[in-house]
Amino acid sequence: MRSPIPDYLAEVLDDCRGGDGGAVADYIPELARANPERLAIALTTPDGATYCAGDADAEFSIQSMSKPFAYGIALLDAGFDAVLAKIGVEPSGEAFNEISLEEGSGRPRNPMINAGAIAAHSLIDGRNAEERTERFRERMSLAADRELHYDEAVYTSELETAYRNIAIGYMLRNHGILDGDPEDVVRGYIRQCSLSVTTRDLSMMAATLANGGVQSATGRRLSGDRAVRQTLSVMMTCGMYDAAGDWMTAVGIPAKSGVAGGILGVLPGQVGIAVFSPRLDAHGNSTRGVKLFERLSDDMGLHLMEVPPVGRSVLRGHDQRGDTHVFGLQGVIRFAGAEAVVREVVEADLPHREVVLDLTRVHGVSDVARRVLLEAVRRLTLHDDKQVTLVDPEGILDDPDAGDGVRPRVIASLDEDRGTPAD
Ligand code: GLU
Repeated sequence: MRSPIPDYLAEVLDDCRGGDGGAVADYIPELARANPERLAIALTTPDGATYCAGDADAEFSIQSMSKPFAYGIALLDAGFDAVLAKIGVEPSGEAFNEISLEEGSGRPRNPMINAGAIAAHSLIDGRNAEERTERFRERMSLAADRELHYDEAVYTSELETAYRNIAIGYMLRNHGILDGDPEDVVRGYIRQCSLSVTTRDLSMMAATLANGGVQSATGRRLSGDRAVRQTLSVMMTCGMYDAAGDWMTAVGIPAKSGVAGGILGVLPGQVGIAVFSPRLDAHGNSTRGVKLFERLSDDMGLHLMEVPPVGRSVLRGHDQRGDTHVFGLQGVIRFAGAEAVVREVVEADLPHREVVLDLTRVHGVSDVARRVLLEAVRRLTLHDDKQVTLVDPEGILDDPDAGDGVRPRVIASLDEDRGTPAD
């Protein structure tokens, strides 16, 4: 069988092909030379499958889509405190090149507008623009799983007309947000924006964020959970310039656009998406790119605020086998799932002493769910005088210390316990 997904993507591209409008960015002369007809889409899953349609291997410059990644690298290199001291996380509701500095502190409002992105670039490890951009290129090559290069023509073209960004650099220097030579930092930022990428590369980068910082094809960890959460949060609130509210309501996934016509979006835990079409709308976002995302979000139910209730689905079943109560759990357990399990245990009013929580089909437990489950184990043992056993072949609850000296017995399968096949 051929997967239906590439055919679906091709169909979506065809449907959105005609809905173009706006104009290619021309304030960077080299971008004005882009072929406006190009159109591409790519999806990458957290386990490394990529699907593409259209011109997904055509290269263009990453531009502002570099901003979330540079911010993530700055968080790793300089640490949260240093980054937050210099760059805020409030949406500015203004255009990308607005100066938007906080009154008094001079802190840029967020890392997705140029002022904040220039400050973020300066916090990447390196003594000068060359070293910082080389570090950026190396990290991004790991995320795309191929060696990337800078587009020299786009870089020099933007540098020649970068008066506004240089002015922003001097403003930041004046407020003590940048140390050292502001022109060196702005040069580095502009080079960072000229990284040459394809739509396929961008979907893999987006999938790395969707996957909590682990590159989905190579399995290599490129960022920490907290840095990814921070990055996605600012993408969600500030990623689409002054259209962030429209985007959140209509599409509802963290995203970032760039003036060369790309948009990347991240649905945490599910998919990284990238689209490319060079003509831009009045906000500076790709016209057809926005349409593609709206369509995907509708068709595929991607909106972050549209989440099916998960609680009950974690409880596979509760039955009594001889003198033992067995609670079968499944899937990924988070707060709502753990609460559903605990409620079932509380309401069941168990007559027998042996209680088994079977975690064989569980493949993830969040921190809060782990605490809720272990606290239930502790109470069952100490208050209700039960004998609790965990069936946990994968060690999902890793070192299940329930506190007050309570350590449930852990076995690899129910058969092991009884010496008979489980029914
Ligand atoms: N390098 C561009 C600039 O600073 C990026 C803008 C964008 O993609 O929004 O003007």
